Formats: sequence, C-alpha cells, structure tokens
Amino acid sequence: MSKISILSESLTNKIAAGEVIERPASVVRELLDNSIDAGAKRITVEVSYGGRRLIRVSDDGSGMDRDDASLCFERHATSKLKSEEDLFNISTLGFRGEALAAIASVSKVSLTTSAKGSDIGTKVEFDAGNKKMVTDAPPAQGTDVEIRDIFYNTPARRKFLKTVSTELSHIIAAVTHKALPYPETAFLLNHNDSEVINVPPAKDIRERFVQLYSKELADEFLEVKDETDGIRLYGFTCKTEFVRAARNYQFIFVNSRFIKNPTVSHAVYSVYKDLIPKDKNPAFFLFLDVDPDKVDVNVHPAKREVRFEKQDEIHSLVAQAVKNALNPLSERDVSGQFQADKKPHGSVREALESAFRSGSGSIPLQANTQTDFFTGEIAPAIRRFIDIGESFAVEVTDDGLVIIDRHAVHERVLYEKFLKKTSVEPENLFLPVRIEMPPKEFNVITSYKELMHDFGLDIEDFGANNVLVRALPRELGKADMKGLLLDIVSCILEQEKIGVKGETEKQELLKNIAARLACHKSVRGRESLNDEQMTELISDLEKTETPDKCPHGRPTRIFLSLDDLNKMFKRK
Ligand code: ADP
Ligand code: MG
Repeated sequence: MSKISILSESLTNKIAAGEVIERPASVVRELLDNSIDAGAKRITVEVSYGGRRLIRVSDDGSGMDRDDASLCFERHATSKLKSEEDLFNISTLGFRGEALAAIASVSKVSLTTSAKGSDIGTKVEFDAGNKKMVTDAPPAQGTDVEIRDIFYNTPARRKFLKTVSTELSHIIAAVTHKALPYPETAFLLNHNDSEVINVPPAKDIRERFVQLYSKELADEFLEVKDETDGIRLYGFTCKTEFVRAARNYQFIFVNSRFIKNPTVSHAVYSVYKDLIPKDKNPAFFLFLDVDPDKVDVNVHPAKREVRFEKQDEIHSLVAQAVKNALNPLSERDVSGQFQADKKPHGSVREALESAFRSGSGSIPLQANTQTDFFTGEIAPAIRRFIDIGESFAVEVTDDGLVIIDRHAVHERVLYEKFLKKTSVEPENLFLPVRIEMPPKEFNVITSYKELMHDFGLDIEDFGANNVLVRALPRELGKADMKGLLLDIVSCILEQEKIGVKGETEKQELLKNIAARLACHKSVRGRESLNDEQMTELISDLEKTETPDKCPHGRPTRIFLSLDDLNKMFKRK
C-alpha cells in the first residue's frame, strides 16, 4: 500500500485559503483587488460584526459574462495571466487565480455579475453540498460578491478571530490601503449599517490623503517626489516634530500594492536617524512605481512583500528624496531654535564663575529642608541645579554629584501618576474640542471610551469619525490632543495583537498608555526649568516607586559619589 496520496481539491483549496485568507480583512482585500482590476470607479464594502457575519463588495467594473462567472471560482482560474512571461510583467493586483476559490472554500459565497451591454446577468452560488448553482440575474453592470459566515467550516480558524472592533480595524486598514493608491475610485465602507469610510473620487493621492486623514494631519507631512529611470517615487513623509512612538503610520506601496519592505524602510530611517530621538519613528506614505519587469510581486502568499531587481537604486532614490523633502525645513528649524534658545540659565562654567565671584569659592551645596510656617509641613528648600546641554542638569550634593535627565525624570513622575488613577485629575474643558480621526483610529478610540475615562480623558462619539474631548487630566495641560489620541490608539492596537482579555494583558496596556501619556507631556529636551521647578520635580521623583528608571527603562539620574571620583582620578 502506498503511503502517498493526492489531496482532494476541496482540501487543497482550504490549505491555500490558510495562506491567503487569514481573517475577514483578507477577504475584503482580495475582493477590492478584483474590483480594481475590473476597472471599477465606485466600490462599496458592507460588513457586519467585524466581517464575521457578512462581507459584501459591489463594484461598477467590467463584470463577467456567464462563462467567466461559472469559471471564476475554480482554482487557478484567472483572466490576468496567459503565459509564463506574463508572470514577470504583472500590472494587475491579482494574478494567481486563487482568491475566489480560497474564499469559497471557507465561507458561504454568492456572486452576481453582469458584463457591459449584456441583457442578462449571472448569479453563482454554492449549495450546502458545495455544488455550484448558476442562475439568471438582472443585468446591472458590475459585480457583487457576498460572503457569509467566514470560517464556518474551519473552526480552528474561526477561533482565532479577534473582537469585532479588532477585525473592523483590519478591514478599515484594508480599505484604506486600496483607497490611497486609487484616488480616482470612490470607496464606501459601512459597518453594521453605519458609515465608516466614504470618499468620493479625488483628483490625486494628496486629495485622497486629506479625505481619509483630514487636512490637519496632512499638514504634518511634507511631499516627497523623485524619479530615476524606470522608478518613480511619490508620497509624504512626516515633519520631524510629528514622529511617533509607534510605527503605525508607515505605508509603502509598490505599483499601488500595499507592502512591507525593509529596503525602503531602512532608507527612510537612515535620513531621520540623526534628526529624531532614538525611541521615535517617522511616519511616511510612499508610493513607488516600478517597471513591472523590474520587481517580483510573486514572493509572498498574501502578496505582502516584493523583491526589487535593483535594491540599491531603490534605497538611494528613497533616501535622497526623503532627505530633500526634509531639508529646507530642518535648516529653518535648527537656526530658529538656536535663536529662541540662547541660554536660559547657567552653563557649568558660568555657575562656577559666579560661585567664585560670590566669594563662597565653592559650588553651593544641597540645601536643607525648611518648615512651612503656616502648615508645619516640611517643604523642600530650593536646591541648585546646573544645566548641561539641552537635556541634563547636575546637582552637587555633600558626597558627590547627581546627573539628571530632566525628560526621563518627568516621565517617571507622570507615569506613576497616570497609573494611580486616583491621582489624575480630569478637568472639564470649557469648550469641548472636536477632533477628526482617521476611520480606523476612530473605531478604536470610541470602543475604549471607558479606559480613556480611567485616565481622566472624557471623550464622546460625535459621529462621522469625529470625537469630542470633554475633559482632560490636568497634568496633560494643553497637549496636542490629536497626537495624544493617536498615540493611545497605537498602544491599543499593539496590545490587541498580543491580546487584551487577560488581567496581565490589561495591566500591560494600562502601563503602556501611562508611559505614552507621560512621554507626551514630559519636559522635552529643550525646555528648561528653573531651580524651583527642578526642586519640585526631583522631590516628586523621590516619592515615586522606581525613581531611578524612566518608564522605558532608561536611567533618570546617575550618581557619582566622592568615592567614584576618587577612583576615576586614581587617588585610591
Ligand atoms: P485573480 O484575481 O488572481 O485572477 P481571483 O480568484 O481573485 O483571481 O478571480 C478570478 C477571476 O475572476 C479574475 O481573474 C477575474 O477575471 C474574475 N473576477 C473576479 N472578481 C471580479 C470582479 N469584481 N469583476 C470582474 N471580474 C472579476
Ligand atoms: Mg483576485
């Protein structure tokens, strides 16, 4: 008896589906690809319960005649490839002829379609025995694909589906990934009958960007544009002030396909590296058009990666173009800052000089505490600090010196405050602030309203991707609220990848958000604090549970004792 047998078609389809169809959003992505390949100018996506129950994509594209409609669910049925050479010259989004077959193998599908000028349409459905039924349909040009109960027959997959809000986030992302590179096409996304995305045809990518992300956000970006032979680059890269703690605004498109690509990412980072803090990430949306014969799009099952023929060329084109985009700005910025910043107070040398001039001959030592006359409380006396560069301060004590990273200290103090919910004071805003969010982020933030509330942030769903901020914790003051909400969303999304149900996972999320909030408001490198403010900050630090580390684990202060100094100077 031979051990090897050939797998049945239904089984091979399911295996293929495992690679292509991970979750409802993958179905949306594949169907959008098909609609775009069919030349659609208007595409409507309707989903319910995060796509678990229903996904429906309708387009006004070329449609199919009866023969094609009956064939399209077969494995390897495609109109986009004819010969082997075609595989190395692909200009459509689809080409493997496997998406519809894969979708049909893990869900209940029906497709209605009609070709241009035809006087009768076609409906293709599968019955319970998975037998195909082909019937007549009204002749409305275009195609409408309806998918119900995804993974109904593959329970293991169904178990991996996340919450409705997570699945919806992925669907919003899938629609966004198509809407950006195809501005001339209108996209509509409805979830449980309410509108999530609705973008009419736009004249170019920039206009589409504004439709999806608001003018406000677009203002944070600079245009990138360049070309060499065979490669064109267009897009947006963020101003250096807009850099994010998370990497969730990094979009790369090659020939209108959303992909991940280390070469392009590396090129962008190589430019930002020296301009932004190490723990921050640039945001960018880059669209590369490469001759189809110079890029292999057939290297990943879900087509999420490509391989460039000339990687180096791509790298230098991207790096140069991003650099050009940033350059005029960074020059202006740097000189501007230097003007505004001219020494707030004391360099080390000045402090030494003044100490000598005042006749004390030594740097003032740490003062003792004083008792408040009225309350009897012991108030810390003002201590003396000396600024070193933009980020550090030094305090001289009786037995050594403490080097302080002001930003890290402030982060630690705020972080612990935010984690102890009770110590956060929400303050109602006199005028609530309306903030327009990108659809995906809007969906996340409104489904985590209670969590926001715990951090003293009261927000309200204002419809059409707008939230109303009604109260903010006093500690945040006049923060950049949009940036703040976006940062919180990115924390949530990151945590959702790992899970948010368990108690430790929840705790993890709270900690991450607290760290993010703290980072938002803490003293930036450049801001300077006077001795009084520093004294208060350091005494707050001394009350925290982990005073020596910032929430990201970096030191907040380093103590050099007399002993250390003796050793350094080889006196011992
Ligand atoms: P692929 O897109 O790789 O060719 P699919 O399984 O996604 O494979 O689709 C099979 C074929 O069905 C396509 O090649 C196309 O000819 C046809 N088709 C699918 N969706 C549509 C649509 N929305 N409009 C017109 N034709 C379609
Ligand atoms: Mg396809």
